[in-house]
Amino acid sequence: MARMIDNQYTQMREIKIYAKENDVPIMNDEGIDFLTTFVIKHQINNVLEIGTAIGFSAISMALANPKLKITTVERDEARYLEAVKNIKKFDLEDRITILFNDALEIKLDEEFDLIFIDAAKGQNQRFFEKFEKLLTQDGFIITDNMKFHGYVDKELSEIKSHNLRGLVRKIKEYRQFLKDNEEYETKFYDDIGDGVAVSTRRQ
Ligand code: SAH
Ligand code: MG
Repeated sequence: MARMIDNQYTQMREIKIYAKENDVPIMNDEGIDFLTTFVIKHQINNVLEIGTAIGFSAISMALANPKLKITTVERDEARYLEAVKNIKKFDLEDRITILFNDALEIKLDEEFDLIFIDAAKGQNQRFFEKFEKLLTQDGFIITDNMKFHGYVDKELSEIKSHNLRGLVRKIKEYRQFLKDNEEYETKFYDDIGDGVAVSTRRQ
């Protein structure tokens, strides 16, 4: 058992190294800590993750809660293949289902008690609106990168790159969309990782 855990620790470290070397933007330790604590505390059973990358956050959640099942979506083939490999290494194929597709194209009819949005940052609202229909009545939607590496605190005029400015504008708009949302209430944890938002239906 101890050996097993040791082995998992080493494999997690290898995933992190791969991410660093290949510029894969996985959640940092603080964000992962938040997410894994969250799925334990709220006894989450069925997660939909938008943006698998190489499987790091999905594997972390699955290891934190042995009852947890995850459906996760990735559109980049190289990352998808790497995620498949990693999930196999952890023997989690029966609890983590990866879909190789654009999340905006998929059709699902399951219910999820957590939807974790961590994909194209300019599409957050579209993901939210598409997938909230699959959320259980008292489920959660968590969105990552709400601070976008601090850029969200800058004035748009300060940001020189056109593409970056567009993305930052989208994230600012998404934050406003969440704040103004009449159906959902959102808590912004701006000091956790790259900023995490947790939305729940207003009771
Ligand atoms: N959740 C991961 C990190 C995801 S990085 C972790 O913390 O370990 C974001 C990923 O979302 C990228 O790999 C990108 O290819 C993917 N992505 C972006 N837009 C997408 C879309 N529309 N559908 C599916 N995947 C998408
Ligand atoms: Mg992220």
